[in-house]
Amino acid sequence: MNVLLLGPQGAGKGTQATRIAAEYGLPHVSTGDMLRAAIAAGGELGRRVKPYLDAGELVPDELIVELIRERLAHPDASNGFVLDGFPRTMAQADALDAMLREIGRELDVVFELQLADEVAHERLLARALDEGRSDDTPEAISRRLAHYHAKTEPLVGHYRAKGNLVGIHADRSINEVFAEIQAALDQVGVR
Ligand code: AMP
Repeated sequence: MNVLLLGPQGAGKGTQATRIAAEYGLPHVSTGDMLRAAIAAGGELGRRVKPYLDAGELVPDELIVELIRERLAHPDASNGFVLDGFPRTMAQADALDAMLREIGRELDVVFELQLADEVAHERLLARALDEGRSDDTPEAISRRLAHYHAKTEPLVGHYRAKGNLVGIHADRSINEVFAEIQAALDQVGVR
Protein backbone atom coordinates (compact mmCIF):
# COMPACT_ATOMS: atom_id res chain seq x y z
CA MET A 1 0.00 0.00 0.00
CA ASN A 2 1.40 3.36 -1.03
CA VAL A 3 0.24 6.26 1.12
CA LEU A 4 1.04 9.96 0.97
CA LEU A 5 0.36 12.60 3.62
CA LEU A 6 -0.05 16.26 2.69
CA GLY A 7 -0.73 19.13 5.06
CA PRO A 8 0.87 22.16 6.64
CA GLN A 9 3.66 21.85 9.17
CA GLY A 10 2.11 21.18 12.57
CA ALA A 11 -0.88 19.25 11.19
CA GLY A 12 0.53 16.00 12.59
CA LYS A 13 1.86 14.35 9.41
CA GLY A 14 4.87 12.87 11.18
CA THR A 15 2.80 11.53 14.08
CA GLN A 16 0.15 10.00 11.84
CA ALA A 17 2.71 8.63 9.36
CA THR A 18 4.49 6.87 12.24
CA ARG A 19 1.22 5.27 13.36
CA ILE A 20 0.22 4.18 9.86
CA ALA A 21 3.69 2.72 9.36
CA ALA A 22 3.47 0.73 12.60
CA GLU A 23 -0.12 -0.45 12.06
CA TYR A 24 0.34 -1.54 8.44
CA GLY A 25 3.99 -2.61 8.54
CA LEU A 26 5.22 -0.02 6.06
CA PRO A 27 8.36 2.12 6.12
CA HIS A 28 7.80 5.75 7.13
CA VAL A 29 9.64 7.84 4.55
CA SER A 30 10.09 11.40 5.80
CA THR A 31 12.37 13.67 3.79
CA GLY A 32 12.57 16.04 6.79
CA ASP A 33 13.83 13.19 9.02
CA MET A 34 16.26 12.06 6.31
CA LEU A 35 17.66 15.57 5.94
CA ARG A 36 17.97 16.05 9.71
CA ALA A 37 19.78 12.69 9.95
CA ALA A 38 22.16 13.79 7.18
CA ILE A 39 22.90 16.99 9.09
CA ALA A 40 23.49 15.06 12.31
CA ALA A 41 25.84 12.68 10.46
CA GLY A 42 27.97 15.68 9.51
CA GLY A 43 28.73 14.66 5.90
CA GLU A 44 28.67 16.55 2.62
CA LEU A 45 24.90 16.24 2.09
CA GLY A 46 24.22 17.54 5.60
CA ARG A 47 26.48 20.54 5.07
CA ARG A 48 24.73 21.36 1.81
CA VAL A 49 21.17 21.21 3.14
CA LYS A 50 21.55 22.70 6.63
CA PRO A 51 21.23 26.36 5.56
CA TYR A 52 17.92 25.60 3.81
CA LEU A 53 16.45 23.84 6.84
CA ASP A 54 17.58 26.51 9.27
CA ALA A 55 15.98 29.24 7.16
CA GLY A 56 12.74 27.32 6.53
CA GLU A 57 13.48 27.27 2.79
CA LEU A 58 12.89 24.30 0.51
CA VAL A 59 15.88 22.17 -0.45
CA PRO A 60 16.33 22.11 -4.28
CA ASP A 61 14.03 19.66 -6.07
CA GLU A 62 16.81 17.68 -7.84
CA LEU A 63 18.50 16.85 -4.57
CA ILE A 64 15.27 15.75 -2.86
CA VAL A 65 14.10 13.72 -5.85
CA GLU A 66 17.41 11.83 -5.90
CA LEU A 67 17.15 11.15 -2.17
CA ILE A 68 13.63 9.73 -2.62
CA ARG A 69 14.59 7.71 -5.69
CA GLU A 70 17.28 5.94 -3.66
CA ARG A 71 15.01 5.49 -0.65
CA LEU A 72 12.12 3.97 -2.60
CA ALA A 73 14.50 1.53 -4.31
CA HIS A 74 15.39 0.11 -0.88
CA PRO A 75 13.98 -3.44 -0.39
CA ASP A 76 11.88 -2.43 2.65
CA ALA A 77 9.79 -0.19 0.39
CA SER A 78 8.95 -2.94 -2.08
CA ASN A 79 5.53 -3.57 -0.50
CA GLY A 80 4.67 0.06 -0.04
CA PHE A 81 5.53 3.14 1.98
CA VAL A 82 4.14 6.09 3.87
CA LEU A 83 5.46 9.32 2.36
CA ASP A 84 5.62 12.33 4.68
CA GLY A 85 6.96 15.71 3.58
CA PHE A 86 7.48 14.71 -0.06
CA PRO A 87 6.41 15.84 -2.61
CA ARG A 88 6.33 19.51 -1.66
CA THR A 89 6.38 21.11 -5.12
CA MET A 90 4.69 20.33 -8.43
CA ALA A 91 8.09 19.39 -9.91
CA GLN A 92 8.55 16.84 -7.10
CA ALA A 93 5.01 15.49 -7.64
CA ASP A 94 5.72 15.07 -11.37
CA ALA A 95 9.00 13.29 -10.57
CA LEU A 96 7.18 10.98 -8.14
CA ASP A 97 4.46 10.20 -10.71
CA ALA A 98 7.18 9.27 -13.24
CA MET A 99 9.09 7.18 -10.68
CA LEU A 100 5.98 5.22 -9.71
CA ARG A 101 5.00 4.72 -13.36
CA GLU A 102 8.45 3.25 -14.02
CA ILE A 103 7.99 0.62 -11.31
CA GLY A 104 4.32 0.02 -12.14
CA ARG A 105 2.90 1.34 -8.89
CA GLU A 106 0.58 4.13 -7.86
CA LEU A 107 -0.50 5.99 -4.75
CA ASP A 108 -3.46 4.25 -3.12
CA VAL A 109 -4.46 7.15 -0.87
CA VAL A 110 -3.37 10.76 -0.50
CA PHE A 111 -4.42 12.27 2.82
CA GLU A 112 -4.70 16.02 3.18
CA LEU A 113 -4.46 16.92 6.89
CA GLN A 114 -6.30 20.24 7.09
CA LEU A 115 -5.40 22.79 9.75
CA ALA A 116 -5.85 26.58 10.01
CA ASP A 117 -2.62 28.59 9.95
CA GLU A 118 -3.18 30.06 13.43
CA VAL A 119 -3.45 26.58 14.94
CA ALA A 120 -0.44 25.34 12.96
CA HIS A 121 1.58 28.32 14.17
CA GLU A 122 0.64 27.68 17.82
CA ARG A 123 1.46 23.98 17.56
CA LEU A 124 4.84 24.67 15.98
CA LEU A 125 5.79 27.20 18.64
CA ALA A 126 4.85 24.63 21.31
CA ARG A 127 6.97 22.01 19.50
CA ALA A 128 9.90 24.48 19.47
CA LEU A 129 9.79 24.54 23.28
CA ASP A 130 9.44 20.74 23.46
CA GLU A 131 11.92 19.53 20.87
CA GLY A 132 14.11 22.55 20.22
CA ARG A 133 14.04 22.12 16.45
CA SER A 134 16.26 24.79 14.92
CA ASP A 135 13.66 25.62 12.23
CA ASP A 136 10.80 26.19 14.70
CA THR A 137 11.60 29.88 15.20
CA PRO A 138 8.67 32.28 14.54
CA GLU A 139 10.32 33.56 11.32
CA ALA A 140 11.12 30.10 9.95
CA ILE A 141 7.63 28.87 10.87
CA SER A 142 5.98 31.72 8.93
CA ARG A 143 8.23 31.05 5.95
CA ARG A 144 7.48 27.33 5.99
CA LEU A 145 3.72 27.91 6.17
CA ALA A 146 3.95 30.45 3.34
CA HIS A 147 5.87 27.93 1.22
CA TYR A 148 3.23 25.32 2.03
CA HIS A 149 0.42 27.49 0.68
CA ALA A 150 2.35 28.72 -2.34
CA LYS A 151 4.12 25.55 -3.45
CA THR A 152 2.63 22.48 -1.78
CA GLU A 153 -1.09 23.20 -1.49
CA PRO A 154 -1.50 23.17 -5.30
CA LEU A 155 -0.69 19.44 -5.13
CA VAL A 156 -4.05 18.91 -3.40
CA GLY A 157 -5.75 19.74 -6.70
CA HIS A 158 -3.33 17.50 -8.59
CA TYR A 159 -4.24 14.46 -6.46
CA ARG A 160 -7.93 15.35 -6.24
CA ALA A 161 -8.02 15.19 -10.04
CA LYS A 162 -6.51 11.72 -9.86
CA GLY A 163 -9.35 10.71 -7.52
CA ASN A 164 -7.41 9.40 -4.53
CA LEU A 165 -7.51 12.39 -2.20
CA VAL A 166 -9.06 12.11 1.28
CA GLY A 167 -9.43 15.29 3.35
CA ILE A 168 -9.03 14.97 7.13
CA HIS A 169 -9.74 17.65 9.74
CA ALA A 170 -6.53 17.70 11.75
CA ASP A 171 -7.63 19.99 14.58
CA ARG A 172 -8.59 17.02 16.76
CA SER A 173 -6.85 14.52 18.99
CA ILE A 174 -4.21 12.18 17.56
CA ASN A 175 -6.51 9.19 18.16
CA GLU A 176 -9.52 10.77 16.46
CA VAL A 177 -7.46 11.71 13.41
CA PHE A 178 -5.89 8.25 13.25
CA ALA A 179 -9.31 6.53 13.51
CA GLU A 180 -10.48 8.43 10.44
CA ILE A 181 -7.29 7.60 8.55
CA GLN A 182 -7.69 3.92 9.41
CA ALA A 183 -11.30 3.89 8.26
CA ALA A 184 -10.22 5.33 4.90
CA LEU A 185 -7.33 2.87 4.56
CA ASP A 186 -9.53 -0.09 5.41
CA GLN A 187 -11.97 1.05 2.74
CA VAL A 188 -9.19 1.04 0.18
CA GLY A 189 -8.60 -2.49 1.42
CA VAL A 190 -5.10 -2.98 0.09
CA ARG A 191 -2.47 -3.92 2.60
P1 AMP B 1 9.73 18.72 7.64
O1 AMP B 1 10.29 17.97 8.79
O2 AMP B 1 8.99 17.86 6.66
O3 AMP B 1 8.93 19.93 8.06
O4 AMP B 1 10.98 19.30 6.81
C1 AMP B 1 11.93 20.14 7.43
C2 AMP B 1 12.68 20.92 6.36
O5 AMP B 1 13.37 20.02 5.48
C3 AMP B 1 11.84 21.79 5.44
O6 AMP B 1 11.54 23.06 6.01
C4 AMP B 1 12.77 21.91 4.23
O7 AMP B 1 13.83 22.81 4.48
C5 AMP B 1 13.36 20.51 4.14
N1 AMP B 1 12.53 19.58 3.33
C6 AMP B 1 11.89 18.46 3.78
N2 AMP B 1 11.25 17.84 2.79
C7 AMP B 1 11.45 18.59 1.67
C8 AMP B 1 11.02 18.51 0.32
N3 AMP B 1 10.24 17.49 -0.10
N4 AMP B 1 11.43 19.46 -0.55
C9 AMP B 1 12.24 20.48 -0.15
N5 AMP B 1 12.66 20.64 1.11
C10 AMP B 1 12.28 19.71 2.02
